[in-house]
Amino acid sequence: MSDYMFMLESHLSSDQSRVVAEVQAAATHANLNIFLTGGTMRDMLGGFPMLELDFTVEGNAVKLAQTVAKKTGAKVLETDDNRKSAKVLFPGGVHATIGMARQEKYPKPGAKPAVKPATIHEDLRCRDFTINSIALSLNPASRGLLLDPNNGVGDLERKELRTVTNYTLYDDPVRLLRLLRFKVRLSFNIEERTKMQYDNAREAQLETRIPQSDLLEELRHTAKEPNCADVVRLLQDEKLLQLFSAALAGGKLNPAGLQKLQKARQMVPFGIDIHIEPMGLFIYFLAEGLSAKDRATFTKQVGLSRKEVDQWQKLEAKSKKLEKELKSAKLQKPSHVYRVLCQAPGDQVLFLLAHSSERLVHDRIRNYLQKYLPSAQEVTDRDVLATGARPGTPKFQKAREELILTKLDARPKKVPPPVEQPGPAPAPAFARKG
Ligand code: ATP
Ligand code: MG
Repeated sequence: MSDYMFMLESHLSSDQSRVVAEVQAAATHANLNIFLTGGTMRDMLGGFPMLELDFTVEGNAVKLAQTVAKKTGAKVLETDDNRKSAKVLFPGGVHATIGMARQEKYPKPGAKPAVKPATIHEDLRCRDFTINSIALSLNPASRGLLLDPNNGVGDLERKELRTVTNYTLYDDPVRLLRLLRFKVRLSFNIEERTKMQYDNAREAQLETRIPQSDLLEELRHTAKEPNCADVVRLLQDEKLLQLFSAALAGGKLNPAGLQKLQKARQMVPFGIDIHIEPMGLFIYFLAEGLSAKDRATFTKQVGLSRKEVDQWQKLEAKSKKLEKELKSAKLQKPSHVYRVLCQAPGDQVLFLLAHSSERLVHDRIRNYLQKYLPSAQEVTDRDVLATGARPGTPKFQKAREELILTKLDARPKKVPPPVEQPGPAPAPAFARKG
């Protein structure tokens, strides 16, 4: 096994590993070359959490996505007809994008690119930053081969964000926002020439050419960032927040609220998915200081979907019910609190952590996130198998839940006081005889 395949295996969760194997098998079956790319490679090589899988296929990616989805019970969430890519949600909650290797030509800044199929090498030269333009071959003949034509690995080591070409920011100005978001997320520096490109682009006001659909997509990306408040602050400092709404830039932002949200998000233990709908939660705090009129303008200007508006505007009322449940004196044991919270939508849990003024509610949520959830993770499939339940059956799920609840309520074992160790036995004296 190549070093990179070994590295990949050790970074993937077992669900992600299964998805990589399934997609790879389907590509081989369809005689298509397939690579892991984008954020997946950056995060694997940079040692960051690998949140989703980015696949690039030399050929019809959307068809491949549909075939794999059918075979594995995954769901194709959306397809991009211009870029020929599909977002897929696999069983086990694994998110993946399967995209066609492509060349993009921009007739002018921010215009819809002309897209044509390309080789992986051509594709990597059309990406935004060097650290995002690395590929790992999953093909039988070259499995484990790393393609890094722009020396992204070097930039990962230097912790630098560098554009792939001199035209990167000019062609597709949403990359200005991506640059700032990655800077905050990864705590990387912007390389000198890239900074000059950024300044030139800003002087030419290229940010005003970002299409509305790209702005909305970027807002959705920002909503998912655990340090969303820092991203918003940087956008504000860079005078880019007004792209989303003039009212947001007019001093009506509530940075304290966003900071509380950020703190709450960071309390979720690494690698545990509590199923949040991030957009409604984020927009609640982003737009908290706006008047009703400004909110309506913002909603329209940004083009939020009906579902997102609903999630945002009903969040407070829905969370109130959960708050009431959490205040109940009936919740006496950890398992009672766990049961309530693991059934609640994650965005309501985080909303209350950031917004509730009830001490008890805070304490219970904090215990849930920081003690009960990590403890529940310690219950393994093997433990559940030992109960006799068969994997994949409702009984298996139930048995796991029972084991978790019992574990949470078990009194912590008393640690016996350290026994004083007797010193080494004295060496026997050799009595002289006689
Ligand atoms: P995240 O962890 O937020 O998903 P990511 O780098 O994977 O980060 P995506 O938006 O999922 O970001 O995009 C996947 C990859 O597609 C990127 O890493 C990059 O290589 C490429 N990409 C995405 N958007 C652009 C863009 N506007 N211009 C050029 N390349 C892009
Ligand atoms: Mg990605």
